Amino acid sequence: MRALNALGLLTIGTGFFLSGTLASPHAAAAASNESTQEAWVVQASARLPTRVIDTLSQIAAVDRRLLALRAYLKAGDGLSERWSWTQDQQSAYASTPEGKLASKEIDAVAAAFTAANPGFTLRVNRRSRSLEAQIISWNENASVGTAAAACASALDQRFGAAHAPRGAIELRNALIDWQPNSAVTLAAPGLSAHGQARAFDFQVERGGELVAGTDAASTRTQWEAAGWTQKLHTAVSIAGKHFVGPLQSLYEPWHYAYAPAVPQPAAAPPSASG
Ligand SMILES: [Zn+2]
Repeated sequence: MRALNALGLLTIGTGFFLSGTLASPHAAAAASNESTQEAWVVQASARLPTRVIDTLSQIAAVDRRLLALRAYLKAGDGLSERWSWTQDQQSAYASTPEGKLASKEIDAVAAAFTAANPGFTLRVNRRSRSLEAQIISWNENASVGTAAAACASALDQRFGAAHAPRGAIELRNALIDWQPNSAVTLAAPGLSAHGQARAFDFQVERGGELVAGTDAASTRTQWEAAGWTQKLHTAVSIAGKHFVGPLQSLYEPWHYAYAPAVPQPAAAPPSASG
């Protein structure tokens, strides 16, 4: 049975009609906002590379998709160059001059650290962070959720119902211009500096036990109060001349950018599949 309900919406069958009329106005409004936001994602992402669109489609919540899309639009022409390596690119990296140099320099930093702090060692993940891992984190991270909700709400206020964007350019500009007022602790999936081994996280261990890790909540107690921030920095200054850090913009005493000395793409060329 098909019928038009009081709102003029086509409904199919009695069950659907009842569930529609019993739903709260709030839920109905949220659903309508979500479909509008989804249309914005499609509209503003239309010209992005296929692999970027594929990544957006793996982000579960529409507001998190909008926030990631904002990062992709802000990256502009640099997007492809910064995009995370594929498995093949990652595998090739270790045997390139850059990969060998990075590994040697990490070894030297670790040796300098242990020499200055007997009994303590540095643990470093030398592999790049996969796109898949970045997507999972983006889908779960609380700071992303907070900023994503604020971003979607700002667009709703600006373009909601009567004030729809005039086109993709106006929509893209609104996304790019929006500024979060809470810190986002992750780069959008695909854009992490860890995705291309352009950053490394150092953790302090003693006898295989973690002493200072990469948990944001541990910054003050494990790193600052215990002095590891300075001790790591000293070791990097002595033995890791291509490392720059630690990260300041969102303070992470364990995170150092890696600026390779070899001026060439480190690994295999980007795959043709995009
Ligand atoms: Zn890091």
